[in-house]
Amino acid sequence: MESAPLTRHKQVNKDGKKMEPLSFTPLLKQIRWGGRKLGSLLNKPIAAADDYAESWEVADHDSGQSIVASGTFAGKTLRELIGSHRHELLGCQSDMAQFPLLIKFLDANDWLSLQVHPNDAQALTWNPQENGKTEAWIIVAAEPDSMICAGLKHGVTRDEFQQRLNDGSIEQSLHLIPAIPGDCIYVPAQTVHAIGPGIVLAEVQQQSNLTFRLHDWGRVGADGKPREIHVEESLACIDFDRGPVDPIVPAEQVTADYRLEELVRCDYFVIHRHHSVTAFELKLDDRFRIVMVLDGHTEVRTKFGTLALAKGETLLLPASLGQADFIPSSSMTLLEIQAPDSVSR
Ligand SMILES: [Zn+2]
Repeated sequence: MESAPLTRHKQVNKDGKKMEPLSFTPLLKQIRWGGRKLGSLLNKPIAAADDYAESWEVADHDSGQSIVASGTFAGKTLRELIGSHRHELLGCQSDMAQFPLLIKFLDANDWLSLQVHPNDAQALTWNPQENGKTEAWIIVAAEPDSMICAGLKHGVTRDEFQQRLNDGSIEQSLHLIPAIPGDCIYVPAQTVHAIGPGIVLAEVQQQSNLTFRLHDWGRVGADGKPREIHVEESLACIDFDRGPVDPIVPAEQVTADYRLEELVRCDYFVIHRHHSVTAFELKLDDRFRIVMVLDGHTEVRTKFGTLALAKGETLLLPASLGQADFIPSSSMTLLEIQAPDSVSR
């Protein structure tokens, strides 16, 4: 009596690799430095408010869990899928304890706080559940006068930094550089940084939400009080030998209608950028990929069929997918993000 459903069940799982490309519902975060460009520029479903700051595109964190938007796994969280379909999703990297990356779009309509993140070892001392936070920014859009702070000026010591924090002249110790669309800035843990107004960027980071604020430019939060500042924790984290951080000069391969750049290869993530007007393929080599369209739009063909991906959209390609083919409708810019094999936590 029970053999029929059992057989059907077996047939459904026969090829064992039934995991299509996953698209998640964006997790929109409203913070007072946000704006409206997540909607106007990246087509996120924002409402009437003018403080849309972050869109978490792929997240497996206690502060935000990505939920599959449609298809076979609609309604499942990324964490549930890591539990139930670990091998299909992660392939040869299945020994990861959690999904290793947090991927966001961010709209800075005002200065973000001056901040620093701990590395893995430091993070453990504050919260055993947390990771360190190394991050990278890819500037999608910026105003002509938009600035970012990436590291400190050469030679700034801990004593000088602390004194300038106290006397209000901290800006003189910061490495401030213009934000240019297309630039990639790699910000390892322990680097002082801030993002200025008029900037929309894609952010790739470790799965972490541990931030220490050094300075908030004298502003107050939604409740009229200054936001919490963590000077002691920050000073304990900062690597004062790091100095200034400048945009990446990528290694690239170029043909007439296709350019592939390697933007970052570090212990936590590898980021490539494809600029193309012509079709190209991505072989996954039994590893997941996250792809984000930064400009233009494309068809994505896989063994599950064809789907359309437009500017501002993100897909998680499971390792078991094998291959994806991209057919841009005109000029298209795509970020391709993966974890290096050495990732351990
Ligand atoms: Zn940060």
